[in-house]
Amino acid sequence: MVNAIKENITIQDPIEVLQKIYGYSAFRGNQLDIIKHILEGNNAFVLMPTGGGKSICYQIPSICIEGVGIVISPLIALMQDQVEALKQLGVKAASINSAISYNAQRNIIHKAKNGELDILYVSPERLLSDNFLELLGEIKIALFAIDEAHCVSQWGHDFRPSYTELTILGEKFPNIPRIALTATADAPTRKDILEKLLLGKCKTFIQGFDRPNIVYSITPKNNPKQQLLKFIKEKYEEESGIVYCLSRKMCDEIGSFLKEQGYNAHVYHAGLEGSERANNQDKFLKEEKVIIVATIAFGMGIDKPDVRFVFHMNIPKNIECYYQETGRAGRDGLPSDVMMIYGMQDVAMQRNFIDSSEAPDNQKRIEHQKLNALLGLCETPKCRRQVLLEYFGDRCDPCGNCDNCLNPPETFDGTIATQKALSCIYRTGELFGVAHLIDVLHGKNNDRAQKFRHNQLSTFGIGEDISKLEWHNIFRQLVSQGLLRVDITGHGGLKITDQGRLFLKNKESIMLSKYTGKTTSTRSRKAKAESLVTTPEGKELYKALKQTRLEIAKGLNIPPYMIFHDKSLLEMSEKKPTSYEDMRNISGVGESKLAKFGEAFMNVIREHNLKIWEQNYKSSKEK
Ligand code: ADP
Ligand code: ZN
Repeated sequence: MVNAIKENITIQDPIEVLQKIYGYSAFRGNQLDIIKHILEGNNAFVLMPTGGGKSICYQIPSICIEGVGIVISPLIALMQDQVEALKQLGVKAASINSAISYNAQRNIIHKAKNGELDILYVSPERLLSDNFLELLGEIKIALFAIDEAHCVSQWGHDFRPSYTELTILGEKFPNIPRIALTATADAPTRKDILEKLLLGKCKTFIQGFDRPNIVYSITPKNNPKQQLLKFIKEKYEEESGIVYCLSRKMCDEIGSFLKEQGYNAHVYHAGLEGSERANNQDKFLKEEKVIIVATIAFGMGIDKPDVRFVFHMNIPKNIECYYQETGRAGRDGLPSDVMMIYGMQDVAMQRNFIDSSEAPDNQKRIEHQKLNALLGLCETPKCRRQVLLEYFGDRCDPCGNCDNCLNPPETFDGTIATQKALSCIYRTGELFGVAHLIDVLHGKNNDRAQKFRHNQLSTFGIGEDISKLEWHNIFRQLVSQGLLRVDITGHGGLKITDQGRLFLKNKESIMLSKYTGKTTSTRSRKAKAESLVTTPEGKELYKALKQTRLEIAKGLNIPPYMIFHDKSLLEMSEKKPTSYEDMRNISGVGESKLAKFGEAFMNVIREHNLKIWEQNYKSSKEK
């Protein structure tokens, strides 16, 4: 049954494929179980976090089983990326989509028919066309893989109607194994995937949601541009990352700001011309040290493995979105940071989006609850990872690798401050925003206080003992804990909710977090990627290897990570392989890449070694 012939090597065994083609030493997590299950002719549902290694679960069976593995993928960009990466590995892969000429398509179809293709990527719409279904009847099929399988569910955020029609695969090809994969699926979505795509003998493989290499940090907004700048400066000057903004306008503003500061920043949002957008995305993929400033329009289909940070300038819609957006960091498994700054106005804006949407009332209620859960994550003094994983029905011990674990927040008894705040709001008629309320609490006898006679109130000046920043911090927590809400239909005045009234009536008490002013308090325990190579000499070599990679990538017009991942280059700078034998032992160096690129990188290492030898020789002579 096994006929895979890769560049004259016949490979029988999945582990051999992994080692010879991909250059990895061992399977991760439940990859091997999944692959075996498919090789035995069964269906599988794979739920694995981003960066977990889903692709290998269908690519290796496609290589091992006779015939073509048909991979259904929702985005052309994703397909092209995967195909290019497979070609670099020496695997016979292709994709059929609207971006490919008629002739090229005929050529691919010819290869598929002649058994000269291992993996074929196709969009669901194309697959469902009469022509393609007919073609499927004429070729030998190894398996069907349905990537981003959550697109089948109306409950999910990426619903794609044609995915629901993929039921046809099971009906027409009942004996060909099907594997559906996704990184995001809540219970209703899972049910849809199983019902619509995988009926029959199917096993579900769930690998937890944890992304251990990501450091989570969330902090109140206070001078956002400076917070962003400080974050980048402290750790990520030399790296690529994504900055998410809620609006196009803000993207433009932050993009210009970063450019002024000397960063290679590009903007991505729906307001740009298609070509400019594509251009900016291309730069992000193919250049190094690029920061993309984007709305959430950016990200789907971005498989860049070395995104070192994701910075949210605003609070996202809910925890699912937060998890997905932050999940774009650190696919390669190297240490990465995600930071969110949030303020009351953001929350009010998200509430407004929900209220003004066309959705039915019960849907709106759910959306509000989901936003509340995210606020809970923002305000929690507990381990962020624990709260995040609990939300997905997963669990972990305190992680020691999030802001709250690294710098546990101090809490204080906020009962009296809260009583003062609520009564100040009540006495000023629930009409005013935070700035004025703080002025009243501070007893500022300004024009406004005089005009509205707020200087006559019993609450005038009762909050002088608490600083302005600390008051902001308190008001924000009261909003996120549901005692107050921001009235966005008026002038953004604060109103007391029923819960707030009960708090006063029942004389309840409340614990609040202290304001620490931290932005990147999270000098993370796991330092940034590059510093894994600790010696200056190792760093220099890493830099030189990266430079060579960039030059080769430019020549081939492909992203640098398709040559080798950072991880491989880091390992090379540590182990300094100068023979084919040693090079083979570097993770990510398979036979095809070794033949194509090995020599170039070994030359860099040899030169480096020589230089070091000369330096040592000189200094020993001088002594
Ligand atoms: P996903 O699709 O689940 O987000 P990928 O399939 O892109 O993840 O894999 C993430 C990264 O991990 C890729 O760079 C991939 O080559 C690498 N990877 C996958 N499996 C292994 C393994 N067994 N050993 C080492 N690296 C692996
Ligand atoms: Zn933690």
